[in-house]
Amino acid sequence: MIEDRLMRFFESFHSIYKDNYRRLAEILLRAYEGDVRGLSATDRMLVNDLLEVIRELRIARSSTLHEMRDFILRSSPGYDYVYVVDALGLPELYGLWCEAGKVKLIPILKLFVNSEANTRAFKEVFGCEDLACVAGASQGMVLKKMDVLIHDIMSGESRSRYEIIDLIVARVKHVTLELPLVKGNTMILSDHGYDIVRVNSRYIATHTHGHRTPLALAKIAPVILLKRIH
Ligand SMILES: [Zn+2]
Repeated sequence: MIEDRLMRFFESFHSIYKDNYRRLAEILLRAYEGDVRGLSATDRMLVNDLLEVIRELRIARSSTLHEMRDFILRSSPGYDYVYVVDALGLPELYGLWCEAGKVKLIPILKLFVNSEANTRAFKEVFGCEDLACVAGASQGMVLKKMDVLIHDIMSGESRSRYEIIDLIVARVKHVTLELPLVKGNTMILSDHGYDIVRVNSRYIATHTHGHRTPLALAKIAPVILLKRIH
């Protein structure tokens, strides 16, 4: 299962690199490229673990958004805070998972599949016109301020390897700073993620088809549960 695989990857990465988000971004690009040249045995293992997740998602056809909706509607009353964020990628998920541990919150990650990786499919399942409506249904709020920065990466602009790594790290830092993690039991959910696609020797962050590379991590619609330890 994708969820178990990703958790194993997070745990292995964390045991070596902790909150080194730059290293995470590098491993991510290597995984997309299937390139383990010159890497240590540990890094090769990390790249291969992540590559397995990418492969599994590439072939994932059926959405589990209905299950996601049921889960959210059923569980959200038990949370003090519910945040809906547009396009939360794998690096940000790791960042939240990692930072939660630092402030003694137990992070639980539930992954659902949005096979089209778009906001529309997600909103439809809730019978909603926008994400604010989805947030309303789950007694939560949309973090608008975050949307802007989050979509900045997906402007369609291609970037150098160095620039895209910088941007990923900046987003992880932004998301983990912007979300108030210490206030109480918190649920964070997102409609889809994004992929990093290489076009010639430049990189684009995207969650749409059209770059000849099948969608993968963009299909992840995550729910992150952060619980206080009593
Ligand atoms: Zn979206």
